[in-house]
Amino acid sequence: MHELPVTEGILNVALEAAQQNGARRIMAIDLVIGELAGIVDDSVQFYFDILSKDTIAEGAVLRFRREQAAANCGDCGHQFPVEVPLTAVCPVCGGNRLRVSGGREFFIESIEVEDEDSGSEGDSERERSGGG
Ligand SMILES: [Zn+2]
Repeated sequence: MHELPVTEGILNVALEAAQQNGARRIMAIDLVIGELAGIVDDSVQFYFDILSKDTIAEGAVLRFRREQAAANCGDCGHQFPVEVPLTAVCPVCGGNRLRVSGGREFFIESIEVEDEDSGSEGDSERERSGGG
């Protein structure tokens, strides 16, 4: 159940960042979670919905990006992505001296906010294609 403190941390960081940018609302938060971090997406979203109530982050969407871990064989040097449950032997040479790296990260990649001066009715899309 360590998603609760983790989610509190996310919310605090997001609120702080939003305030610094003079944002009125937090629309979405992009998170990167390593495959081995042992964090369940659904639990984070569940806690977030509760904790963010009555804050400017209420109703924000959490978007998760999974970061894969990699294993490096100490015998033949073969490198390959690993998933949970972890592989214990190298698929190439059968050696068991694997070194696992990555997959444990957990951080906020970006926060999507609604700006203070964006009008309630104005479409300010600046994407244009074509030209003369
Ligand atoms: Zn190997």
